Amino acid sequence: MVRLYPTFVFAKGDWPWLKKVGFLVRSHHQSIAAPQRSKGLCHLCLAGTAQYADWSNPDGSWKCDDSLLRPTPPWSRESPLTTRLCKSDDICGKTWRYRPDIFHTLHKGVLAELAGSGLVVLTDLNLDGCGGDIPVRLHQIHVQLKTWCSHNKVQLHVNDLTRTILHFDADSDFPTGGWFKGADTTAVCKYLEHKFHQTLESEHSDYVESIYMALSAGNNFLRLLYSADLFMPQSLTQRVAACGRQLLSQYLRAASIAHSLSKTRFKLIPKFHLFCHIVMNLEATSDSKNRSFCINPLAFSCQLDEDLVGRASGMSRTCSIRRVHEQTIRKYLVAVRLNLPNHGQKRPLSSEPAERHGPKPKRPR
Ligand SMILES: [Zn+2]
Repeated sequence: MVRLYPTFVFAKGDWPWLKKVGFLVRSHHQSIAAPQRSKGLCHLCLAGTAQYADWSNPDGSWKCDDSLLRPTPPWSRESPLTTRLCKSDDICGKTWRYRPDIFHTLHKGVLAELAGSGLVVLTDLNLDGCGGDIPVRLHQIHVQLKTWCSHNKVQLHVNDLTRTILHFDADSDFPTGGWFKGADTTAVCKYLEHKFHQTLESEHSDYVESIYMALSAGNNFLRLLYSADLFMPQSLTQRVAACGRQLLSQYLRAASIAHSLSKTRFKLIPKFHLFCHIVMNLEATSDSKNRSFCINPLAFSCQLDEDLVGRASGMSRTCSIRRVHEQTIRKYLVAVRLNLPNHGQKRPLSSEPAERHGPKPKRPR
């Protein structure tokens, strides 16, 4: 008989889901204007409370000692995930198991804000080369964006740019990239980096420079992570952390300049604070003498998991309602077989694979 012992390593998901499974009382729902009444907006620290109100400071002025955190857990009743499946009683260790997720923190968070505001800044500064009112100009920017993506082999899903997609009904609103696909955030950020770089070459301004540097840092941050292995060496971790640090500081600089121009751009959202935690964790790991590697934070991202669920969900829509579970699994297995290399060819059962997928490994000398 096989006996299994489940354990809770970590939970990954969007913030509302983490809040639900962890019974968290400190979350983004507590990001209210009056910190005196807030329980705090982060389950990992006391940011957003009256004592640590400056939660958007990337220097970590909101950081406090573990001795302060331990008497104030982020739940009033602890989740069975940690009471039953965690051996350790350390509150800080338990809270860190509810990990911030790169996909929701950046693609659907800070970078979506950067992309949405960046697009509108093109119209603010007349960098789009189009005339007319905002809807017409956004449409023209989409045409330019689509052309650029096509030339540079970047996939773009969004069909048009509108006030609705950017959540930009009035000029007093903070624009944000409200498109469905997180990958579109990457495409728009790459296009904007190119666009603002062109602008900087012809005419320098602090505002444009800060936006360009934030875009460049954000794109490099993701590029390094997506090309890295699961275990990142310290030197690479330092480079990733430096890009994250630059994104934080330049985003804040752009937001500050926009504020001085009386423009509602580059909104500071609670996910900005979560991203501070991700960057600080990378910095701490890369500085540690006891660690030679860092786990790629993409391991705690649920981008692929959501994609997997989406594919199975799509298949289930074409199944009989009476046999939906069985038929979905069967369809999925067929799709897996069709996508395996050499599908349709007979393969001997006991010998080596007839042909490997990809280059042959070199023989050891
Ligand atoms: Zn925090």
